[in-house]
Order: sequence, then structure tokens, then C-alpha cells
Amino acid sequence: MNPSVQRLVILGSTGSVGTSTLDVVARHPERFEVVGLSAFQRMDALAAQCRQFRPRVAVVPTEERAAVLRGLLDGVATEVVVGAQALCDMAAASDVDSVMAAIVGAAGLPPCMAAARAGKRLLLANKEALVVGAGLFMQAVEEGGATLLPIDSEHSAIFQCLPEDRGTWAQRIDHIVLTASGGPFRQRAPDSLHDITPEQAVAHPNWVMGRKISVDSATMMNKALEVIEARWLFSLEPERVQVVIHPQSIIHSMVVCRDASVLAQLGTPDMRVPITYGLSYPERIESGAPRLDFLQLSALSFEPVDPLRFPGLQLAWEALRAPAGSTAVLNAANEEAVAAFLDRRIRFTDIHRVNAGTIEALAPRLGPVTGIGDLLALDERARTHARGAIQGLAA
Ligand code: NDP
Ligand code: MG
Repeated sequence: MNPSVQRLVILGSTGSVGTSTLDVVARHPERFEVVGLSAFQRMDALAAQCRQFRPRVAVVPTEERAAVLRGLLDGVATEVVVGAQALCDMAAASDVDSVMAAIVGAAGLPPCMAAARAGKRLLLANKEALVVGAGLFMQAVEEGGATLLPIDSEHSAIFQCLPEDRGTWAQRIDHIVLTASGGPFRQRAPDSLHDITPEQAVAHPNWVMGRKISVDSATMMNKALEVIEARWLFSLEPERVQVVIHPQSIIHSMVVCRDASVLAQLGTPDMRVPITYGLSYPERIESGAPRLDFLQLSALSFEPVDPLRFPGLQLAWEALRAPAGSTAVLNAANEEAVAAFLDRRIRFTDIHRVNAGTIEALAPRLGPVTGIGDLLALDERARTHARGAIQGLAA
């Protein structure tokens, strides 16, 4: 074993962030060793990754898919294991230094918690895990001695603008400004949003991403989740997290300091930049992303968020002000609503109806939240409520 080699697990390796991570890893074979990979549906893609990176272990959700994968892995020594507990075991294994959390949705919370408790270097793309886990997630990071590195481009930008010593952050930050592209419907008339199809919603103007986050970008629920994520990552009161639309996606976010100085991080919209920063932190290595050409930039512009077009954004601050567990409720409702929209069971504008209705119904009567079990139970309760609302809307 070479101590200078970082031994890496990628949770959700077949997705958009997962494949970009492997793209960066492949550029630096002397720095990274892939120990574990996981996928949910795409066994062909996972098999190809196993053939290329030769991980010790690959995790899949069912015995059926394990059989498919084993069949495709003819001659590759990767051990194929099954289930949610196997994901946690892989994330906490003693031969692992770093865990890239790139599963989509609350399903990624348990392995993130396992990595945090085991004191890993945790590269967090899976924002829903932090939105659900909230203070308990941050507590596990602290108690486990883990290093939490943001991968979401906005949070990576903020992190890159701050000094290493976290103890100085509260004193220096007045507020932060998360930039948002505004997605594909930034200029669309609010009263025409109900006709939007899944194909239109996933066609993001600046970023190529998985389907769920693409729909979240179109509703700006992605930014709502990011406001909640930022509140926890940077330990800020919710009012200190602001949002501005910046259609070019060149400035990835900004820190406004107490002295009115503004620090920003810029770059081409390519997830390999924040991924590489997480992988190499505190060093800087080649990411493969194209360089920014300042002479080609026509303008950097900024706009306020129109609450009629994007009513979901406000839910972030509402959920943060509501009792603990409310952000888990919001996330669960949104996951169910986005899935129903992608299945063409509800309209685009119904996503907000489901989210707002579920928060309104559940937030006033949440029980105490003392452990992850409580949050997962709440997640299930919110999904049941949201599914009922979806059925009502679909009828
Ligand atoms: P994708 O949908 O492209 O990939 C998701 C990955 O998770 C795939 O490997 C998928 O497997 C796996 N997966 C899906 N559902 C489950 C489940 N229930 N249990 C275990 N594994 C599962 O998503 P993205 O890569 O776009 O996003 C991943 C995370 O990163 C999200 O939380 C997103 O918000 C965040 N993020 C993404 C960005 C981007 O540019 N894409 C930017 C910033 C943050 P399979 O492929 O087999 O279905
Ligand atoms: Mg983002």
C-alpha cells in the first residue's frame, strides 16, 4: 500500500457526478485508487467501470442485479455485494480514505452517516443527505472526526473563498450569495408553466446533470435545497444565505465579508472543477475542465428571483424556521413530486403544490427528532402524505 495514494469509494458511480469523478481519477492514476463503486440500475455502466478501475467491491441494490453484474464481470475480481447495509459498510471500511457521496436523494443519507462516523474524508455532492440529516449529520461529522468537503459547485465556491480555519468563518462572513442560473424557464411567463413537459424541464441551459436535479433546477427547488445545505455547511443563520440569478453560471457563488469586500469563485460550468478540488484539497491538480476565456465573456449579469415563477425557493427559509425535521419533510415531498412529474402523473406546477401542502400539513405536528431513525421515519411519513396529494392531483 502506498500512503500517498488516496483510496476512494464512489457512492452512485454511474451517475453524472460519479462518472465525472472517475474522469478526474483516470487523469491521476498515481494519486487515486478506486476501492469501491455502487449503482442502482445501470449494471452495464457499472460493469464497464469495474473493468476499467478494478475496485475491490461493488454494491448493487438487489440479488437479481448482482447476478446480472457478476455475469458481466467475467474475469474481473471485484466482489459484488447487495443492499443498503453493504453501502454503509463500504463507506466505512478500513481500507478507504475518501468517500464521494454521489447518490441522488435521501437514500444516500445512511452511507454518508457511516462515512462521517468513521472519520472519512467525505466529498458531499448528495445535498439531499444533508438537507435530511441537518444538525445530526453535522454532529456525526464532528464526532467522527470526518473532513466534510462540499462538491455542489456553489458550496465549493464558498468553501474556496474561505480560509482553512473554520473558527474564523463566523467572524468574517456577513452573508453569502448563492448564484442560480434560473434554469430553462427563467424568462417563461409564470402562467404558462403548467404545460411544461419532462423533456423541457430536464434540458438545462448550462449544466448536464441527472434527471432529478435537472427538474429541481427548473423549479429552483435545487436552490432551495442548496440554501438549506449552505446553512449547515457554513453554520449560518438562514437569513445570511441569499440567492441571486446569474444566467451565465460563471460566478459559482460569493462571500460578502463584514468589511463589504466580496470574494467570488469563477470558472466554466464544469463539475470536474469542484470535484477535483474535493479530491485534491488542499492542493490543486488538473481537472480536465476548459479554462475561462475572459475575452469571450460578453457579460456577467444578475437578476432577482421572481417568486411567482419560482415559488419553491421560499420554502427553504420556511422549512429552516419550522421545527427540526421540516427540511426532511420538504425533501421527501419534493422527491416524490419530481418522480411523479417525470412519470407524467402530475403537472410541473403541481410539484410546488405537493411540497407546500406537505410542509403545511406536517410541520406543525412533528415529534422530537433525536436520531437518524426519527428522520427516516419522518421521511416515510412525508412521502405517504405527498403520495396522497399526488393521487388527488392526478385524478
Ligand atoms: P444521477 O441521477 O446522474 O446519478 C445518481 C447515482 O445514484 C447513480 O449512480 C444511480 O445509479 C444511483 N442511485 C439512484 N438512486 C439510488 C438509490 N435509491 N440508492 C442507491 N443508489 C442510487 O444524479 P447526479 O449525479 O446528477 O446527482 C447526484 C447527487 O449530486 C444529487 O444529490 C445531486 O443533487 C448532486 N449534484 C449533482 C450535480 C450534477 O452536476 N449532476 C451538481 C451538484 C450536485 P444508476 O445510475 O444505476 O441508476
Ligand atoms: Mg449546485
